[in-house]
Amino acid sequence: MATQVTEKEARQVAEDAREQDWKLPSFGKGLFMGDYRLDLIHPQPKLDAEKVEKGERFLATLRAFLQEKVDPLQIERDARIPDEVLDGLKEMGALGMKVPEEYGGLGLSQVHYNQALMVAGVWHASLSTLLSAHQSIGVAEPLMLFGSEQQKREWLPKVAYDHVSAFLLTEPDVGSDPARMGATATPTEDGKGYTITGQKLWATNGAIADVVVIMAKVPKSERSKGGISAFVLPCDSEGVTVLHRNAFMGLRGIENSVTGLEDVYVPAVNRIGKEGDGLKVALTTLNTGRLALPAICLGVAKWGTKVAREFASERVQWGQPVGRHDAVAQKIAFIAGTAFGLEAMLDVCSRLAEDKKNDFRIEAAIAKLYASELGWQVTDELMQIRGGRGYETAESLKARGEKAVPVEQVMRDMRINRIFEGSTEIMHLLIAREAVDRHLQVAGDILDPDTEIKDKARSAVAAGAFYGKWLPQLAVGKGRDPRSFDEFGDLAKHLRFAERSSRKLARSTFYGMSRWQAALEKRQAWLGRIVDIGAELF
Ligand SMILES: Cc1cc2nc3c(=O)[nH]c(=O)nc-3n(C[C@H](O)[C@H](O)[C@H](O)COP(=O)(O)OP(=O)(O)OC[C@H]3O[C@@H](n4cnc5c(N)ncnc54)[C@H](O)[C@@H]3O)c2cc1C
Repeated sequence: MATQVTEKEARQVAEDAREQDWKLPSFGKGLFMGDYRLDLIHPQPKLDAEKVEKGERFLATLRAFLQEKVDPLQIERDARIPDEVLDGLKEMGALGMKVPEEYGGLGLSQVHYNQALMVAGVWHASLSTLLSAHQSIGVAEPLMLFGSEQQKREWLPKVAYDHVSAFLLTEPDVGSDPARMGATATPTEDGKGYTITGQKLWATNGAIADVVVIMAKVPKSERSKGGISAFVLPCDSEGVTVLHRNAFMGLRGIENSVTGLEDVYVPAVNRIGKEGDGLKVALTTLNTGRLALPAICLGVAKWGTKVAREFASERVQWGQPVGRHDAVAQKIAFIAGTAFGLEAMLDVCSRLAEDKKNDFRIEAAIAKLYASELGWQVTDELMQIRGGRGYETAESLKARGEKAVPVEQVMRDMRINRIFEGSTEIMHLLIAREAVDRHLQVAGDILDPDTEIKDKARSAVAAGAFYGKWLPQLAVGKGRDPRSFDEFGDLAKHLRFAERSSRKLARSTFYGMSRWQAALEKRQAWLGRIVDIGAELF
C-alpha cells in the first residue's frame, strides 16, 4: 500500500536525495548565476584515441548487424524484439557497452555509447529503449557508481554479456513522487538479508529481465533510520512474478512489466549503498543515465533531416518540389537546426561525463528536457512535411509500393520521452532547484517560514555580504564588449548575447526570489520559463 505523505514531506524526500555538494565546477550552475564560464566547456574535453577507434569499430559492427539481421517492421508487427535479435546484441557485447573491460564489458566512452543508442534507436526505438533501460538505469550504472567491489565482480560480467536488467522504481501509486513508495524491504531477524514485498509498475525489460535494481522502503527501527533503499535482485528469486506485460501507444517492442514481489528474500550483500540511500543512488545514476534519451531524440532529428530533405525535393506540388515552398523550407531548416543544436549539446555533455572534471548534473538534465521537447516538435514538423504519407503506417506505404518511412511510428515512439526519466514538469522543478542552490545556501533560512527570527537575522547578515558582492557583478560582463569572443568569428555575437542573457537571467531569478520568497516554489510556470531560457542559452 502507498505511503500517505504531505506535499512538504514529499519535497523533503526529494531534497534528501539530492547531491548536496558541488565538488566540481559547473557550467550550468554558473549560467543561471550570471557567471558565463565558457572555459569549462570550450575547448571540449578530448577523447582518448584508442577509445575512439574501439567505439567506431563497434558502431560499424552494430550498423551491419541492424542492416543485415533486424527488420524494424517485424518488431512493429509482432510487438516484440525477436530472440535472434536479442541474442545477436548479446553476442556483439551491446549489453555491456559501458561496462569497463576489466568487468567483462566493452568499455566504450559515453560518447560512443550514446552514438550506439542513436544508431539503434533510428532502426527501431524499442532497441535503444531496451539497451538504455538495461545499462543507463538498470544494474550496470548504479553498480559502477555505488557498488562494492564484490558486487561489481559478481554482477557486471553477467549484465555485460547475457543477463538483461531493469530498473524498478515506479509503482501504481508512485510516479513522480517516490515518497509515496509502498514496496517494503524488511530486515530478516538474523540481519543477513531483507524480504521485499510490493508491486512495481512499467518496468522496461521487466518482463524478460534476469536481474533488476529495485527500490523498496526499509522500515525505521531502533537500529536504522530506514528509508528507500536500492537492491540488486535476481529475477529467479522465489516470490518474483511478472503479472502483466504492458502495451503502449509506441515502443511496441519493449518488454515492460507489472512485477509482483511477495516475501522475496534478498541478501544484505545485494544492497547498493547504505539503507536510505536508494533515491540518491537513483538520482546520481540518472545524472549520466539521462544522456541516453537525448541521444535517441538526436537520432530522430538527424534521420528526420534526411527524410525531410529527400521527400521535399522529390515531391512536386503547385509546380515545384514542396521544399521550394517557403513554409516547408522553414520546417526543414527547423529540423536541421535542431539536429545540429542537439548534437552539439549531447556531444559536450557526453564529453563532460567522460572527462569527469565537471559537475554536469544541470547540463545533463537540460539535455533531457530540451531534447525530448524539441524531438517531439521535430517529429510533428516531419509529419507535416510528409503530409498524408507522414500519417500513413510504414507497413501500408510498403504494401502499396512506396518507401516504408515510419514517421507515424516515430511519432508514437517519441511521445513518451516527455514523460519518463523525469517528466518535463518535474525536470523544470529539478533544474530550477539546482539553479537556485547558491541562493538557498545563502538565503534559504530567510525564505523558510519555519526558521526562527534570530536565525533569520543571522542569515540576513551573511546574505547581505554575498549579494552586496554578487549583484554588482551582474551589471557588466564580456558580452558588452563588441570585440569579445572574436576568436569565434561569426559566432562571436551569439556568445556575447549568451553572456549578457546569462546575467539578465540571474537578475530575473534574483528578482523572483526576492518578490515571492518561499512562495516561489509554487510559481511553476515562472520557474519553467527561467529553466527554458537557461536551456536555450546552453
Ligand atoms: C513506456 C514506459 C516505460 C517506463 N519505464 C520505467 C522503468 O523502466 N522503470 C521505472 O521505474 N519506471 C518506468 N516508467 C515510469 C515513468 O518513469 C513514469 O511514468 C514517470 O515517472 C511519471 O510518473 P506517472 O506516469 O505516474 O505520472 P504522475 O507522477 O502521476 O504525474 C502525472 C502528471 O502530473 C505531473 N506532475 C506530477 N507531479 C508534479 C509536480 N510536483 N509539479 C508539477 N507537475 C507534476 C507530471 O509531470 C505528469 O504530467 C515507465 C513509464 C512508461 C510509460
